[in-house]
Amino acid sequence: MSLYAAKKTVVNMIPGRLVRVFAAPYVAGDSLEKALAVADRLYEEKGVETTLDVLGEAEKTEAKVRGAVDAYLRALEAVKTRPYCTISIKPGHWGYYVSPELARRNIEEMAAACQAAGRGLTVDMEDTDVTEWTINLYRDLKPKYPILGTVLQSRLYRTEKDLDAFDGLKANIRMVIGIYNVPAPAAMTKKRDMKEALLKESLILLNRGHYVCFATHDIEYVRRAWKTFQDKKIPKDRYEFQMLLGVPRDHIIKELRDGGAKVRLYVPFASDWDDAIAYLRRRMLESPSMAGLVVKNLFWRHH
Ligand SMILES: Cc1cc2nc3c(=O)[nH]c(=O)nc-3n(C[C@H](O)[C@H](O)[C@H](O)COP(=O)(O)OP(=O)(O)OC[C@H]3O[C@@H](n4cnc5c(N)ncnc54)[C@H](O)[C@@H]3O)c2cc1C
Repeated sequence: MSLYAAKKTVVNMIPGRLVRVFAAPYVAGDSLEKALAVADRLYEEKGVETTLDVLGEAEKTEAKVRGAVDAYLRALEAVKTRPYCTISIKPGHWGYYVSPELARRNIEEMAAACQAAGRGLTVDMEDTDVTEWTINLYRDLKPKYPILGTVLQSRLYRTEKDLDAFDGLKANIRMVIGIYNVPAPAAMTKKRDMKEALLKESLILLNRGHYVCFATHDIEYVRRAWKTFQDKKIPKDRYEFQMLLGVPRDHIIKELRDGGAKVRLYVPFASDWDDAIAYLRRRMLESPSMAGLVVKNLFWRHH
């Protein structure tokens, strides 16, 4: 068994109620109202914008997909009066695993509604089985719905070539290293390589006239990216920095804001705690310190 598979087994054994205890910093709460309160406070107190995400992934029934769409439509209603909020969605949550046509129909309806409201909509990038589909969907829909954004994962070797898919689109691309554990040879295995690619590909996008959301918690790379963008005289309204709610990055966020850079936090909230728990298990796999804390706590509870 690989180290990752072993870690996954351990994380999946942690009881859901315990996962929930560790949810507090990463999830805005279990209702839209709680998420909005977080978004309002971030904006009013720190000038930090948000993208709201209703937790949930890979729905297998139309009824569950409908539930997700309805929860998002309620969120869109609320952000109509909040220009500092955008919305992020996942193809799996929007019906891709029921049928790709259903997901496409749902996402296009949401894109139309967001366009009418003037609010950004980002289609998150999931695992490699949907990479091609997501890029094609984006290429098809972006000309009709300029508010649309999507995500590219720098760990994938294909990404550098994928940048060409956006030529002529004035795309809005969140650049991330990617959260899914894709093995070689499709993906890089060293984080440093992923982050060098993150910076390089972000610059290519900016040079081609696209908008870039530079999304990492690695302070060294945030600083390097920001310095490079400034040295290259890229206007500040052509890029922003994004991080996840709950990752302690107050200092760098203040530094960015004081320098006039736009910062946006990804703010997940739950309408169903089972969905939240699935999301948090993935976070634990990502962050050794968090998993370590949980495991330490488990040992403590057992002795
Ligand atoms: C706004 C946003 C949107 C994203 N959207 C997507 C997406 O659509 N598709 C996708 O595949 N991935 C997405 N990701 C996740 C991303 O791909 C990375 O997996 C994640 O950001 C961790 O990588 P890193 O660049 O921060 O570097 P790392 O080297 O993983 O982290 C740098 C530092 O930050 C700390 N850190 C990182 N994450 C956490 C955490 N969760 N809790 C505590 N500390 C942490 C680490 O301990 C480390 O010290 C998104 C990330 C962000 C910030």
